[in-house]
Amino acid sequence: MTDRQIWQTWSKTVRCRPARWIVPRVEGQIVEAVCAAAEDGLGVRVAGAGHSFNQLACTEGLLLDLSRHTGVLDIDRRAMTVTVRGGTHLAEVSAALDRAGMALANIGTLDTQSVAGAISTGNHGTGIAHRPFSSQVAALRLVAADGSVLVLDEAADPDLLACARTALGALGVISTVTLRCVPSFSLRSVPGSERLEDVLGRFEEWAHSADHVAMTWLPWTEEVSTQAWHRTDDPPTQGARRLRYATTVDEMRCGLAGFAGRWSPASVPRIKRLLSSGGPVEYVDASHRVFSFPQPVKFLALEHALALDAVPEALRHLRVALRRFGAYSPYSVLVRVGAADESPLSPAFGRATGYINLTVPRTARYTEVLRTAEHLLRDLDGRPHWGKAHTATAEVLRPRYPQWDQFQRVRGKLDPGGLFCNEYIGRVLGPVDAARQVYA
Ligand SMILES: Cc1cc2nc3c(=O)[nH]c(=O)nc-3n(C[C@H](O)[C@H](O)[C@H](O)COP(=O)(O)OP(=O)(O)OC[C@H]3O[C@@H](n4cnc5c(N)ncnc54)[C@H](O)[C@@H]3O)c2cc1C
Repeated sequence: MTDRQIWQTWSKTVRCRPARWIVPRVEGQIVEAVCAAAEDGLGVRVAGAGHSFNQLACTEGLLLDLSRHTGVLDIDRRAMTVTVRGGTHLAEVSAALDRAGMALANIGTLDTQSVAGAISTGNHGTGIAHRPFSSQVAALRLVAADGSVLVLDEAADPDLLACARTALGALGVISTVTLRCVPSFSLRSVPGSERLEDVLGRFEEWAHSADHVAMTWLPWTEEVSTQAWHRTDDPPTQGARRLRYATTVDEMRCGLAGFAGRWSPASVPRIKRLLSSGGPVEYVDASHRVFSFPQPVKFLALEHALALDAVPEALRHLRVALRRFGAYSPYSVLVRVGAADESPLSPAFGRATGYINLTVPRTARYTEVLRTAEHLLRDLDGRPHWGKAHTATAEVLRPRYPQWDQFQRVRGKLDPGGLFCNEYIGRVLGPVDAARQVYA
């Protein structure tokens, strides 16, 4: 147990003071801590790397901090899988796989988050053929509320595994994860620039135009920066590792513009123009270094998953709303795409998806901007990212998830007493009791 008192998220916008804070290194210590908390009447939440933007991991009971429950346990070249402890950062997994000539098929922009945290929140990268990160899970070990260890794999328990791989930590503690891998591959990163309306006019075609695509848009402009990543056998570009930092440097400029614009958010576009420099360049590198980049600047983010064909309408509405607001964020709106998923609580459940992400400085003024965007995206049947800022409740969310009831049935079975509940889980999933009454 540590003597630290206050736990806080990466963005330092959410904090809590757990009654008990345990940093397990092995599964036995997780089981012991869960059983002791249940006996003492303490709720349990798990923290991975703390990169969520909301109260997900917060608790006044037991905080199981998995920052030391790390390490790659096995790489199976025949089965093309890797097994890791839940707290292992994606960067460590990618580096170990790289040495073995293997890779993860797709990851998001951040590799300093834990594997279990990423899968639990529906984390995703981009690519129209790619489901969210948790779809790469082949098996996992889950410590349930009664201290039993469930070994879930896709052959024996496909339905249970589908629930457990996007579960917000509400079903138990993920001790280890086995991920499916692919042979290592390189990507050619090709930046571009287009008129927003031109991309929106052929949005689905654009979404299919490369293995992975993304676009970023400053809402006071009519242009978007596009990014396409194509698989290639070409060798890495000289200096590729340095080129990867272009986006990091750009985010630092955004941080600076956000700071300067604190006193006058309306002047952010002018400050951005003053700070602008040459954009990103084309390069080739190993996939994991192309997908992600270091992100030292703190911010707040909101992201919604929409049906792919709803994205153009959403961006047009956002253009009007954000311009009316006048408090521009220095960070671009980010649009990514993905395939339909089958995990009941996956924001990509059942539909090809477009993800719209808004990043803002951490000030009250911008919280209002996020609120406006949230309501607009919600009206277009958007599903919020479980790990990002949002205000949705179970009443709002339930109709958006066709297999909500199946998830609640599993929740009622694995955690009948609500041991893994906190205020956030109560808000977004409802109480376990209600789940049991409705779904018994
Ligand atoms: C700079 C930055 C960039 C980001 N980029 C992306 C992106 O590209 N794509 C994207 O989709 N998201 C992105 N996110 C969001 C973030 O990656 C996710 O919210 C993810 O949860 C963070 O993982 P973590 O290890 O920090 O989890 P934490 O925030 O520590 O935990 C999140 C929740 O996951 C659950 N959890 C964690 N570990 C376990 C476990 N072992 N067992 C059971 N439950 C567990 C718990 O409920 C916990 O409360 C980004 C966030 C930041 C700050």
